[in-house]
Amino acid sequence: MSKLIAASAIRGAHNIAAQAQEILARAIEDKGRDSKVEFPNTGYYLPIIYSMTGRAVETLADLEEVMVEIKDLLPPLVDEDFWTPYLGPALDAGMATLFAEEVIEACKYLTGPYPVQDIWLGAADDVILRERGIQFVDGTAPGFAAIVGAAPDVETAVEIARKLQERSLYVFMCAHDNGTSFSQQLVEGGVQLGWETRLVPFGPDISAAIYSLGFASRAALSFGGVQPGDFRRNLLYNKNRIFAFVMALGEVTDEWYATAAGAINYGFPVIADSDIPEILPTGICTYEHVVSNIPHDKIVEKAVEVRGLKVKITEIPIPVPVSPAFEGERIRKEDMHCEFGGQRTPGFEWLRMRELEEVEDGRVALEGPDIDAIEAGGKLPLGIVVEVAGRKMQPDFEPVLERQVHTFVNEAQGIWHMGQRDINWVRISKDALKAGFKLEHIGKLLHAKYHDEYWNILDKVQVKLYTEEQTVLKLRKQAQGVYADRDARLAGMTDEDVETFYSCTLCQSFAPNHVCVVSPERPGLCGAYSWLDCRAAFEITPSGPNQPIAKGNTVDPTVGQWDKVNAFVSSSSGGNIERMSQYSMIVDPMTSCGCFECIAALLPSTGGIMIVNREYPEMTPCGMKFSTLAGTVGGGQQTPGFIGHSKHYIGSKKFIAAEGGIKRIVWMPTALKSEVREVLAKRADELGLGGEEFLEKIADETSATTEEEVLEFITNANHPAPTMDPMF
Ligand code: SF4
Ligand code: ZN
Repeated sequence: MSKLIAASAIRGAHNIAAQAQEILARAIEDKGRDSKVEFPNTGYYLPIIYSMTGRAVETLADLEEVMVEIKDLLPPLVDEDFWTPYLGPALDAGMATLFAEEVIEACKYLTGPYPVQDIWLGAADDVILRERGIQFVDGTAPGFAAIVGAAPDVETAVEIARKLQERSLYVFMCAHDNGTSFSQQLVEGGVQLGWETRLVPFGPDISAAIYSLGFASRAALSFGGVQPGDFRRNLLYNKNRIFAFVMALGEVTDEWYATAAGAINYGFPVIADSDIPEILPTGICTYEHVVSNIPHDKIVEKAVEVRGLKVKITEIPIPVPVSPAFEGERIRKEDMHCEFGGQRTPGFEWLRMRELEEVEDGRVALEGPDIDAIEAGGKLPLGIVVEVAGRKMQPDFEPVLERQVHTFVNEAQGIWHMGQRDINWVRISKDALKAGFKLEHIGKLLHAKYHDEYWNILDKVQVKLYTEEQTVLKLRKQAQGVYADRDARLAGMTDEDVETFYSCTLCQSFAPNHVCVVSPERPGLCGAYSWLDCRAAFEITPSGPNQPIAKGNTVDPTVGQWDKVNAFVSSSSGGNIERMSQYSMIVDPMTSCGCFECIAALLPSTGGIMIVNREYPEMTPCGMKFSTLAGTVGGGQQTPGFIGHSKHYIGSKKFIAAEGGIKRIVWMPTALKSEVREVLAKRADELGLGGEEFLEKIADETSATTEEEVLEFITNANHPAPTMDPMF
């Protein structure tokens, strides 16, 4: 290896270790050595140290022990002409650097400067890890680019970020070059930062690089089943599964070298714009380790090539880029050219099956004015009718395919979509209009995406778009009739009516023991899969994650257990879960992955339960916020007293039927209450609880925020829960 790099990396590692020593000494002086240190809301402690050494750091005293370990790892300082054919000393220096940087960042959480401020996000908690890390596993994000430093100017920064986004990569940013950071450049360029847009500003110092590498380490622990302390398998998992690289922009300091050497341990190569010595032969990384002096307009292509990344860029004939990376992008009012639906104008989307001769593949027709006919900030009605035909197509598939409109449309940059059916809402940005985007491009996009993803069932796809109010209203009425028919089919169905339930194991990629058992009266906990959807999905992809489960003999009708369902759950959880109840949150409750729309939790003293939805960020009466609760309940475990579930399930007759059903609900946030008001009132009526009146007996954040307050409120309101049998 190059002598310069070894010397630099080792020198940088010594510097950073000295900084860690200093900040730790100060923290101990300020707070005492028993003081707790942690990154917020994580079960992985300081993840690099935890994953590589198995050491669970909880206090400053633990960090002192880590410092001893760092010193053992640090190779002695060498002079400039030190030469070795091995990467070894630099790699050790790199690992020592990452440990020391984790010490530094952890101490900052305690003594400041606090890592989360201004544009900086600091450590990702476990909810983000689950939500985002899964994308590394299921392929929607192949990996990440860890950008260190800054581009020479704002335009170059924006250009590089866009190219990385188009390849669906996450962009993790840290450090600065002479006071300028890549993140700040993006903000200046008007680019939206955050996990939603996959552009994540971790921190302004080089030590914030540990948030990227820590994320990678946690991915291996959580999705790769790697044990803490098994550093070899952790590094291999990352080399083989997470396509990440470091992009060093600007002057590479000793500390950058040292950190880059840490990344090379993971098989993440370094691509630099400056003229630093290269390390070309392969060994740890798949191809080269350090490639330098790359011009900015080639740097993304080069990085992708060096990391050996295969990315699929679907060529879709529309004037804006299309990629899952744009899915989370929002369009603010100021940036919007026009909008459709969203209670502002009538709108709907409807996918219907037609005969083969009725569909002309690729045809896109617009009836009514286009977006260039209206002024900025304007609105139009919009009807989207997708007509599909195929030898293997069935009417049951319509809703499953229709729901994809949301995902597909959102993937276009500058187009934003929310909702479905007749509550859809679309915005088109000024930038998209400038790029030449017209309404017909929505049709072209849908045509391409449907063929791409459903080639096995669809032969022909045509799209009709309507923007004249009268036509939209007329067609919407027709579509509403279809939606109602679909709902009626499911609404009329009970679990007793069918002999077969469906599994969903889509989430096993990150919660390996988790199975959703989907029955007519209990949809998947993410809310996206009803029994009919699972049945259709099974037919579309017979070897997919939705498999039929014959119920078999009833084991216990009250809690909802059947022998074949239990057998299925047992075998598909690798023997970890032996029994699972469909209607109980106490006896063998269903496992929870991480995508539940709501969590129900026992409030023991009230005789009832609280339900909190994902959108509610505040503290709840059980003493935990949604995010903390999710960490406790999620991950594929059975947690008696807690279940993750969909919003729809609240209105089901089988909602925790074994424990007495909705009579047990004593607290929910107002927003959730109003969302489920109608169905809940109807259920309450059927149960003789007094319809709407029962809803008033349920506490919410305006009346109670602690368990005691809930008890007081419901006692005054004469809620039935306190007089019911105890749940346990
Ligand atoms: Fe499937 Fe359940 Fe995951 Fe939803 S939460 S995708 S139903 S396994
Ligand atoms: Zn899930």
